[in-house]
Amino acid sequence: MARIEDQTYQPKILVIDDEKRIREGCFRILTKENCLVDVAENGETGLRMIAKKYYDIILTDLMMPGIGGMEVIAKVREQHLDTVVIVITGFATLEHSIEAMKKGAFDFIPKPFTPDQLRVVVSKAVRMTRTLQDIATEKTRFKTLVSYLAGGVLVTDKSKNIILYNPALLRMLGYEGRALNDQPLSALTTDKTLTGIIDGILGLSPGEFKVLSAEIMPHERGDGSSDQLYLRAQAVPFQNRSGEILGSVTIIDDITHLRKLDEMKSAFVSMVSHEIRSPLSTILSQIKVLMDGLAGEVSAKQTDILGKMSRKVEGLVELSNNLLDLSRIEAGLIVQDKEQVQLMDILENLVGFMQTRAREKNISLSLKKANLPLINADGKSMEEVFGNLITNAIMYTPEGGKVSVRAKVKGDFLEISVSDTGYGIAPEEVPRIFERFYRVKTERTRTTIGTGLGLPIVKSIVEAHNGTIKVESKEGAGSTFYVRLPI
Ligand code: ADP
Repeated sequence: MARIEDQTYQPKILVIDDEKRIREGCFRILTKENCLVDVAENGETGLRMIAKKYYDIILTDLMMPGIGGMEVIAKVREQHLDTVVIVITGFATLEHSIEAMKKGAFDFIPKPFTPDQLRVVVSKAVRMTRTLQDIATEKTRFKTLVSYLAGGVLVTDKSKNIILYNPALLRMLGYEGRALNDQPLSALTTDKTLTGIIDGILGLSPGEFKVLSAEIMPHERGDGSSDQLYLRAQAVPFQNRSGEILGSVTIIDDITHLRKLDEMKSAFVSMVSHEIRSPLSTILSQIKVLMDGLAGEVSAKQTDILGKMSRKVEGLVELSNNLLDLSRIEAGLIVQDKEQVQLMDILENLVGFMQTRAREKNISLSLKKANLPLINADGKSMEEVFGNLITNAIMYTPEGGKVSVRAKVKGDFLEISVSDTGYGIAPEEVPRIFERFYRVKTERTRTTIGTGLGLPIVKSIVEAHNGTIKVESKEGAGSTFYVRLPI
């Protein structure tokens, strides 16, 4: 037998044979090969020993008086799946050997055999037991890892039966029933969002990979307290080598503390903006009093300084207004007053109002009139959306440029576009301009005052109206913002 590489590993072997010569021969040869060998002179004794002790390998004669080799195989299969059985066949009958292999024997060795033949067969079996042990170790390691993860883990097969889960998952979903192995997913949860993403994953085509995520809110906390729990679930498929989807793996994280922090932040920002706004307005009116000469004569130099001060303070007022808007949107308060509105009227008013600002920069601002159907929207929010887009268009367009506003019906939507011939936005910046506080920094836009909150507010309002916003832009040539609102 090729010596076992790991000398510290001693396979435990049981030899069951009614022939003394065979028992003693095997004992001698295998003990020399660093195996721990026990022997039994018949099937009954063999089974008793197997019940008491775990063996890696069992060598059993097929034909013995009383309990025969076939019965030994059947018992071993029942009790120790990882034990490898080799049958010793007396008459070298192929049929019996094949029968034994079908019952679960790993290999066979015909009598009489030479020490070398025995070594070869046992050596093969040892390699097999080592592999089985490695798999078993790997499995326990994996199970321990999954059990102690703080995140919830849920694995299903292709037919949505649960094949693996951990205690964290049960706690998060507040499940207290019986064990869930091989149970349908519905036994654990009926949450539509969660089952929805798992369905989405199981419905992928072979070879396709996708991560689907969603926020879920189980009704109650698993630990019995009444606070709302917020969870984030992410599902992915697992596949076999040919890409066929075998099931889904879902990881669930508890994001309640993040949500709570976010709510606290919004409340804080809202409170601070509120508190800041009124003193700022007072400062503005006091500056105006000074500038108007109502508190005594002011020199040209002083007027200049006061003008600069008042523009900075106006910037702060705008920032606090935007922050307030944002916290109102987050609290779901922005689009409460939806009614039938004629968007063209709103656009006409806005464009009229903005003409002064456009003229200051020698920009032509135009609106293409059209007959539009009424839409269900919050008028004030619509003013905010298009006011922001037109202000940006004027702000980010150099003197002498053009800003045009158009609106038309496109299928079930109204499509409103605001185009300019301005600086444009670099392709890599486009996805970021809707992020809070994000401002593109280029030589030309560096000096414009802004908060980076306009577009996020616009996007939130549009989405609260079930609409979409997108932008097409070319650096140096201009940008067009498209807003679509359902009719
Ligand atoms: P703000 O204008 O206060 O900086 P916004 O959220 O309205 O914030 O816009 C974010 C960024 O997007 C701006 O800083 C600007 O760089 C870019 N941007 C917005 N509108 C336009 C436009 N029409 N043309 C070019 N860049 C624009």
